[in-house]
Amino acid sequence: ALNCGIVGLPNVGKSTIFSALTSAPAEAANYPFCTIDPNVGIVSVPDSRLQKIVDLIPTEKVIPAIVEFVDIAGLVKGASKGEGLGNKFLANIREVGIIAHVVRCFDDPDVTHVSNTIDPASDIETINIELALADLETVEKRLEKNSKALRSPDKDVKKKAETADLLLKRLQEVLSQGKAARTLDFGNDEKEILKELQLITLKKQIYVANVDEEGIKDGNDYTREVEKIAGEDGVEVVRICGKLEADIAALDSEEEKEMFLSDAGLAESGLSKLIQKAYDTLDLRTFFTAGPKEVRAWTFHKGDTAPKAAGVIHTDFEKGFIKAEVYHCEDLFSYGSEQKVKEAGKLRIEGKEYPVKDGDVMFFKFNV
Ligand code: GDP
Repeated sequence: ALNCGIVGLPNVGKSTIFSALTSAPAEAANYPFCTIDPNVGIVSVPDSRLQKIVDLIPTEKVIPAIVEFVDIAGLVKGASKGEGLGNKFLANIREVGIIAHVVRCFDDPDVTHVSNTIDPASDIETINIELALADLETVEKRLEKNSKALRSPDKDVKKKAETADLLLKRLQEVLSQGKAARTLDFGNDEKEILKELQLITLKKQIYVANVDEEGIKDGNDYTREVEKIAGEDGVEVVRICGKLEADIAALDSEEEKEMFLSDAGLAESGLSKLIQKAYDTLDLRTFFTAGPKEVRAWTFHKGDTAPKAAGVIHTDFEKGFIKAEVYHCEDLFSYGSEQKVKEAGKLRIEGKEYPVKDGDVMFFKFNV
């Protein structure tokens, strides 16, 4: 799934961050395949290249890429046992592509903490153990089901069951220690089995350190703790002040927003960084189409070939793909116009095998 679930203990700032993310909703008409759901936010991906393209190729309409965020409430200690909103929570989190794990890194006597102390290390552990326990349950159920197949007279069935058995036992061991399935390496035949299991701890995470205003620029003792753990877990950290982001998001004009940011000593909002990090962690990349009617950023999967990318615009483009005319947006920026890009020999014709690059500007030729 191409979306990012927001999780964290109660009162860490999830809803504050989610509402800041969704305060300027992307124009739904441009994205007909998106889910309409109060817990799902369709968020535009900030990309400075889009404006730079429009400066050189004037157009009527500019459409950014989007990424979905899902507000997943209800994770408390015991969620894996069905406490609180446990079951609904687990069902929702299995559906997302990656997880933004919000960690409280601010003191505020007016905001209660579920365990009464601000302790990022313990909070992160609580959540991650809960997720590992949920996966452990999935794995153990599967082990039980698999045990019948192990005794099958059919050689192929038996062989597959043996592979599964080994894998499931390896998973059982790490998960029961509260560690993520992500920490293991898997063979190709194992990956097939993993797909069906939909393990939560196989999903990549981003740690979101939610700080107060004093902590934005240089962080604080809490964020340093989060960064240390993130280093060990191989996870990236985005520092953000949810409250400030919510205030900024409520402002009307871009000028006001920029003034607010520079007053806080920031070049870029934490929200922008979070959106870009989520997009990147989902292995999503951007190509552009550019013309006088519309300049648009489109999303493809890292590694996709030209026909696949064309299919993002329309399935007919993929089916009838002939070739693509391609140049890189950096060439446009350095040469100053499409005409000069052509004259410099930087416009290429690419075929079906071409792996699209982030920042390509593309024009597709296809049969109808
Ligand atoms: P959730 O339960 O994780 O969704 O948390 P909320 O977003 O509802 O936030 C809980 C409380 O913490 C609210 O009163 C927020 O105003 C407050 N809060 C959120 N972010 C910050 C922050 O960065 N600093 C401070 N001081 N309070 C915050």
